[in-house]
Amino acid sequence: MTEVDVLAVFAHPDDLELSVGGTMLKLNSLGYRTGALDVTRGEMGTRGTVEGRAEEAKRAAEILQLDIRENLGLRDGHVFIDEESRIAMTRAFRRHKPRLVITHQIGDSHPDHNNIAQLVRECSRLCAMRNFDAETGEERIKPPIVAHNVFSRTVQPSFIVDISEHLDGKIAAIRAHSSQFYDPDSNEPETMLTGETYIDEIEYRSRYYGSLIGAAAGEPFFIREALNVEDPFALLTRSMNLYS
Ligand SMILES: [Zn+2]
Repeated sequence: MTEVDVLAVFAHPDDLELSVGGTMLKLNSLGYRTGALDVTRGEMGTRGTVEGRAEEAKRAAEILQLDIRENLGLRDGHVFIDEESRIAMTRAFRRHKPRLVITHQIGDSHPDHNNIAQLVRECSRLCAMRNFDAETGEERIKPPIVAHNVFSRTVQPSFIVDISEHLDGKIAAIRAHSSQFYDPDSNEPETMLTGETYIDEIEYRSRYYGSLIGAAAGEPFFIREALNVEDPFALLTRSMNLYS
């Protein structure tokens, strides 16, 4: 079965773990089927090999208890909003039928990330159009809602997910990508991610967003659409942190 409730679409094999690993674990614990669509194999990466990174992604998927993890195989560093990419992603959406898609933030400084945020938005509409890429016989689906992870720029989050119970799992899934992070025995060149404190910084980031909602850890999201709230009292009094 390849259908999922939630599909996380990120550029490189470790992006999901760094951005929304806690949320994916939480969604799994709530009983939703979760999946990852990695858009590239990370072949432009300074460290690691394509084969090694695929193995690391597989191990991380087990830690995150993902129901599926698939790689779209677009070119790392060369993801554009073109017809090939739109068709590949729309087919993936129709195959997996997510109702919620989680992805990069709009305006991310990495061009692949930024283009994927836009591609996801376009494909979340194209997948609902009967005559787009109709020759495959794949049926159109309802447009999924798109939630953007807030990561590299100062963006006011629309909401923050409490991941207090899942921070350890998130960090473990990040560490599964061992070729990408601090390793005193590695002879490969240093990157922005290989400093000794980088994974600690990811933890501090989660702790900070948690502090804004009175929780031990959190992950922030931005959505463009208005939120449809059934019970405003329950929502607004659930997690208010008067001191943040
Ligand atoms: Zn990336």
